[in-house]
Amino acid sequence: MEKIQNYINGKFVAPKAGKYFDNIEPAKGIAYSLIPDSQAEDVEEAVSAAQAAFPGWSGLSIEDRGDWMMKLSNGIAARMTEFVEAESRDNGKPIKLAEHVDIPRAISNFKFFATGIQHFASESHEMVGVGINYTLRKPLGVVGCISPWNLPLYLFSWKIAPAMATGNCVVAKPSEITPYTAYLLCKVMEDIDFPKGVLNIVHGFGHTAGDAIVRHKLTKAISFTGGTTTGKTIATIAAPMFKKLSLELGGKNPNIIFDDCDFDEMMSTTIRSSFANQGQICLCGSRIFVQKGIYERFKKEFVEKIKKSKVSYPTDPKAQLGAVVSKSHMEKVLSYVELAKEEGGTILAGGHQVKLDAPYDQGFYLAPTIIEGLKFDCRTNQEEIFGPVVTLTPFETEEEVLMMANSTEYGLSATIWTNNLKRAHNLANEIDAGIVWINAWLVRDLRTPFGGVKSSGVGREGGWEAMKFFTEAKNVFVKY
Ligand code: NDP
Repeated sequence: MEKIQNYINGKFVAPKAGKYFDNIEPAKGIAYSLIPDSQAEDVEEAVSAAQAAFPGWSGLSIEDRGDWMMKLSNGIAARMTEFVEAESRDNGKPIKLAEHVDIPRAISNFKFFATGIQHFASESHEMVGVGINYTLRKPLGVVGCISPWNLPLYLFSWKIAPAMATGNCVVAKPSEITPYTAYLLCKVMEDIDFPKGVLNIVHGFGHTAGDAIVRHKLTKAISFTGGTTTGKTIATIAAPMFKKLSLELGGKNPNIIFDDCDFDEMMSTTIRSSFANQGQICLCGSRIFVQKGIYERFKKEFVEKIKKSKVSYPTDPKAQLGAVVSKSHMEKVLSYVELAKEEGGTILAGGHQVKLDAPYDQGFYLAPTIIEGLKFDCRTNQEEIFGPVVTLTPFETEEEVLMMANSTEYGLSATIWTNNLKRAHNLANEIDAGIVWINAWLVRDLRTPFGGVKSSGVGREGGWEAMKFFTEAKNVFVKY
């Protein structure tokens, strides 16, 4: 079986202890490659390489740094098919999703920050007749980036691209569940002779390799995307060490549908916002609130359409949903379906595993699931499930739906469907979320701030926010 390797100081290296564990293909439920079980000693070597590379990399002109980042972007594009197939195989997502979303967006992330850094100006504040302050924004040194499995290369590149563009050197760990495209990125670095030690990728488990990155005294900042519980653990370690922290965590996002919306557009987008990537996108709208006047019509059409959606192996061009990422995740999602029943919910669609024919008969497939009849504050409606499961809840007034939407500990994103301008703006203003879409979903402009409130995270990624996070401001005053 193929052995994935770490990439440290510009070289593919085995983990020092020589241990590996299985990389499972979700579509088939069997191992297809081996992942390094890296430990603190491997992270130590990666941090040393990054530290040694820092003076050279941060000393490059921004044009030269931008050029290297563009080469990375182009290098992925040149191996597009390989990346698309690998992402779909590693994660279980339909190949067309990897082709249209994951890999193109990873390519864009590098391109965006390669060019963005050319326009990153710092502030000056004149004190009339006294002097002038100017602010330098210096790279931090070595930074740690840790990413999840749902959009593997897309979210990995969303961190490492701004970190490197601003002059930092990186030690990064992709999710152990989906390491393959990060490994392919190392092959791109080899193809283009990317400067050694600037990006070091260490594979392994969160509690060992990830923990060592967070604890290392030389990692000055940690940029993390993942679950809220892991975010808390990381904050407990990193905060007393006074590291900069960016935490992008879980969500339980409301999708609020008013009577006056454009019904057909809302319906086709709601199908995506509920079940794209098997519901494993932190921005999916898993709590659907529908105003009473259109509740029955919505329910009937939504259930009919969802019952017809095709759950299939990822390489099937007709697959609308592929496999969920792992057996344990599939079991977790199914346990929430059982909980929903105990809490008085009615399953309108799905609620079970889907068995495909060989060779996919051991894969992790779930039918898209719609549940109604639950109280807004029950566990099914409060806890993140992160799978193809949505709940339907009717509402009458704006006040009522706002109260229910804001009732969870999370606050990542929200979607509002209405043609009432005043209501749309009022609700967007009142809702607890870092990102609000009105009559749309998942429209992304890389310049905008990205992140959540409450237990959905701390800090913002994207645009200048990311570049500010990965730099330290130093103010200098000069007397006239
Ligand atoms: P996890 O929190 O389990 O893991 C995320 C990453 O952190 C993985 O690389 C993981 O390694 C690592 N990790 C785990 N424990 C530690 C530790 N103690 N120290 C350092 N690193 C650690 O999340 P998932 O991978 O399960 O991703 C799903 C979650 O991510 C969901 O909650 C989802 O909402 C959230 N998410 C948030 C987004 C946002 O932008 N707000 C976007 C996408 C997802 P390992 O592989 O071993 O687990």
